[in-house]
Amino acid sequence: MKKIFYIILMTVLLTILFLVSSVLAQSSEIKILLDNKPLETVVPSVIENDRLFVSARNVVEALGGRITWFPALKLMTININNRIARLVIDDPSLEIDEKVIPLEMPARIIDNRVMIPLEVIKIIAEIDIKWENQANTLFINTIRPYLLKVRSYSHPDKTRVVIDLSEKTEFRADKLINPDRIFIDIMGSIAKLEDTSKQIKIDDGVVKTVRTAQFNEEITRVVFDLYQESKYELFSLIEPDRVVIDIFKSGEETAISETLSTKPEGKPAPGLEITGKRVVIIDPGHGGKDPGAINRTTGLKESEVTLGIALYLEKLLKGAGIPTYLTRSKDEFVYLEDRTNFANQKNGFVFVSLHANSVLNPRPSAEGIETFVLSSKYIGASARDVADRENIASRAHPELDTDLAKIIADLEESANIKYSLDFAEIVQKKLVNYLKLEDRGVKQAPFVVLKGANMVAVIVEVGFISNPKEEKLLKTDKFRENAAQALFEAIKYYIENTPDNGG
Ligand SMILES: [Zn+2]
Repeated sequence: MKKIFYIILMTVLLTILFLVSSVLAQSSEIKILLDNKPLETVVPSVIENDRLFVSARNVVEALGGRITWFPALKLMTININNRIARLVIDDPSLEIDEKVIPLEMPARIIDNRVMIPLEVIKIIAEIDIKWENQANTLFINTIRPYLLKVRSYSHPDKTRVVIDLSEKTEFRADKLINPDRIFIDIMGSIAKLEDTSKQIKIDDGVVKTVRTAQFNEEITRVVFDLYQESKYELFSLIEPDRVVIDIFKSGEETAISETLSTKPEGKPAPGLEITGKRVVIIDPGHGGKDPGAINRTTGLKESEVTLGIALYLEKLLKGAGIPTYLTRSKDEFVYLEDRTNFANQKNGFVFVSLHANSVLNPRPSAEGIETFVLSSKYIGASARDVADRENIASRAHPELDTDLAKIIADLEESANIKYSLDFAEIVQKKLVNYLKLEDRGVKQAPFVVLKGANMVAVIVEVGFISNPKEEKLLKTDKFRENAAQALFEAIKYYIENTPDNGG
């Protein structure tokens, strides 16, 4: 036992020694990025006793402060953000706003220069600081997220409020009673709203008013005054960064509003979009500079197949009086995120993204139809290959974006995924019946185009463009018409037989 203990101890000690020496070896190359721009210092920063020391003058001045040095007293005063801090060399304490704060490390003189530990910068400037060991880089961030705009949309079943931010930040929401309210705290943010946006009257039977104010130095708070206690759903979207809240009408309220909406009322509030009908969004995959999969022999492009099916499908849906929008109706490039944003803007109920499959390796025998639903994990054989291929036209790649996996994991908790799985089963069955190709089943994977869709959403892979037999079919109008007919029947069935899920 003792022997094992010593081996472990030695291993740990050697590892620590190795880490420290590798840090010291690189210490001459420490970089500082201030708001992502390199900050040059006269004296290089150093790491000593595992703590980072930076040039006091250079860094304080770069942050807009001023430093005064009293050599006889070994004292420096730092004026920054209307605060005054005092610091004595080799004294592990900092005096700021007449308070004394203990320091882990005192300021020091290294190579005839006054150097201060990083913690001093953190305390005096109240800024966001991040050290990245691998890059040997200190990130100093003074830019704070701004709350730019508050927009509201009244729907028959819910009120949606969108909070536009200058950049992504954390947020939280909670309910309050007497009177019934919901609030959202946008962490670390500053409100930069026009006066007219600080208080918005909605009066739509769900929300009376939305009020926004700086709650404290760190938090902007958005408060929703309600008619009565209401359920809500909170999520964020990117590009641009937004926080979105859906506040739902309660059961009785829905009944009342339905009788009201049949009577002619005054002109609807701006942004009010009451169709009373469920909107279908058809997303022909790829297009423009992104042709999708291409058959090596014939040159048939996936983007052409998906648009062909989409145009037939649009005709069928519109013919049946179902409001339908296409994310593209010609051969053009559209980012995946923009496709979803468009779908959300149109308040879609169902989102169908059309694709044709392909195998990267020459395995021309792969064949059949598969339907995908969003997931944070890959569920089903070859799901990863398909997701990798279909995510290319995204600004963010899920493999690189750990946030994406988190957002998707959150979405999995929501009803949309469960409803999407139901819908996918119907779609898959109809397609296999009509097209008579192999049934590869319903699968799940992290698709960018499905991620932001606030509705039931699926990706359909109607066949393999890399398979010679299926390529011949995908080329024909007959096949595309059949695919459209199958999808039309699946969508129609689903929207006629699904209770409102608030999505
Ligand atoms: Zn595709």
